[in-house]
Amino acid sequence: MSPNAGTTIFADQALLPDGWAENVAVRFAQDGLITEVQPGARSAPSQIRVSTLLPAPVNLHSHAFQRAMAGMSERKGTEQTDSFWTWRQIMFRFLDMLTPEDVEAIAAFVQMEMLEAGYAAVGEFHYLHHQHGGAPYDNLAEMSERICAAADQTGIGLTHLPVLYTYGGCDKRALAAGQVRFGNDFNRFHKLRDGAARAMRHLPSDTVLGVAPHSLRAVDEDGLRQAVALAGDKPLHMHLAEQVAEVEEVEAARGMRPVEWLLDQHRVGSNWCLIHCTQMTPEETGALARTRAVAGLCPITESSLGDGIFDGVRYLGAGGRFGIGSDSNIRISLSEELRTLEYSQRLRDKVRASVATAEKSTGRVLFDAAVRGGAQAAGRRSGKMEAGCFADLVTLDPTAIDLDGLRGDAILDAYIFAGDDRMVQDVWAAGRHVVAGGYHVKRDAIRARYRSTMAALRARL
Ligand code: ZN
Repeated sequence: MSPNAGTTIFADQALLPDGWAENVAVRFAQDGLITEVQPGARSAPSQIRVSTLLPAPVNLHSHAFQRAMAGMSERKGTEQTDSFWTWRQIMFRFLDMLTPEDVEAIAAFVQMEMLEAGYAAVGEFHYLHHQHGGAPYDNLAEMSERICAAADQTGIGLTHLPVLYTYGGCDKRALAAGQVRFGNDFNRFHKLRDGAARAMRHLPSDTVLGVAPHSLRAVDEDGLRQAVALAGDKPLHMHLAEQVAEVEEVEAARGMRPVEWLLDQHRVGSNWCLIHCTQMTPEETGALARTRAVAGLCPITESSLGDGIFDGVRYLGAGGRFGIGSDSNIRISLSEELRTLEYSQRLRDKVRASVATAEKSTGRVLFDAAVRGGAQAAGRRSGKMEAGCFADLVTLDPTAIDLDGLRGDAILDAYIFAGDDRMVQDVWAAGRHVVAGGYHVKRDAIRARYRSTMAALRARL
C-alpha cells in the first residue's frame, strides 16, 4: 500500500477548491502530499485514469469498539421507555467483555468499512483504556496501541483522541461499574497520552494526536482546563449538548446550559470540535457558529439514539462549520450521514433543499462542508485537492446508472440522494491506495479475523 513515487491520477472531472474542473491531473509524492493539480491537462498512459475525483472526507468521530454491538440494542428493555440512557447500559455491559485483541480486530474491521465508504481518515475518540474491573494494563496505553495497530493494517489516516474521563456525573460522583475501564485522573491520563504518542511513532506522517475531555459530565472544570492546555493547537474534541437530561444536569450544576457555559468559560477556537450539539437554543447556535469551531454531527447515530435534530439551517446560515462522524458505528455510510442530516431538516421545517444556495446544490453544500470541517477537526492537512495537502481522494463508479452522463454538482446530488456508498470505487488515504474497485485491499484477512472475534464474543455474552 505504500505510495509509489510520483503517482498521477487523471480525472475527467474533479472537485477542486474553487469548483469543478475537467481533465485534471493530480500528482502526489511518496510522502502522500499533493505536488501538483493541473486542470485542462492531457492524459498519459502512465497515469491512473478515473471518471470523477473528489477530496475524501475525514470521519471525525468514532468509538471503534461500538461497531461490534450494532444491531444488539433494538429490543424493548425493562424500562418504560428505551432511550439513550438504556442503550448506554447495554453498551457498558458489552464493552466489559472486550480484550485488547478484540478491540484491534473490531477497529481494523470498522476502519476498513470507513475506507470502503469513501472516508480517508478517522478521528478515534478513544475511551476504553483499562482492564475489566478498571485496573490499568501493564502498558497504560495498551488499547491506544491496538487502535494504532489497526490503522497500520488498514492504512486509514488516524487522528487519535485519547479521552479524559474522570467522573460519573457533574456532581463528581465516582464512576459506575460500567465506566471504570474509562477512568483516569488528569495525571494518569497525561502518562497514557504520552504512551499513545510513542505508539504512533511508527505510523505514517499524516497521523495526528489530539485530546478529548469526554464531556462536561465526566470532566470537572480543572480537568477541562488542563486538557485544553495539553491540547495546545492540536485537535480538542468533546461531546456537548447531546441529550436533554445532560443539558439539565449541567444547568443545575453550573448555572448555564452546556454550550452557553463552554463559550462563556473557554476561548473556543478552530482546533475545537464539539460533538453533537443537538440541544442548542437559537442564541447558542449562532454563538457556536461564530467561534469557527467544528460541530461534529453524527446524523445516523443521533437518529438511532433519539437525540434530536441539529439546527443545521440556522447554523450554516450563520457561517457555522461542521463535519460528519459515524460515532456509534451502527452503520458506516458517508452518503447516508449526509442524506439523513438533510432529510432531518426537511422533516422539521417542511421544506426541500434546505441548505442549498444559489451557487451550490444541496449535495455540494453538504459534501463541501463535510470535507473541510472534517479536515479541520482532525488537524489534518487535507480537505482540499491542492498542492501541499495530503492526497485524500475518492472516485465514484463511472458505470453506476444513477451517475450516467452527469456533470458537476448533480454527481454529488445523485450519489447522496439516489445512490449510496456502493458507488465508491477507489480511495487514497494520504496517497495510500487502500480501496480499489470498491473493496479494501486487505478485505479478506480483516473480515476473517473480525468474524472469528465476533463468534467468540457472542459465545461469551
Ligand atoms: Zn460519541
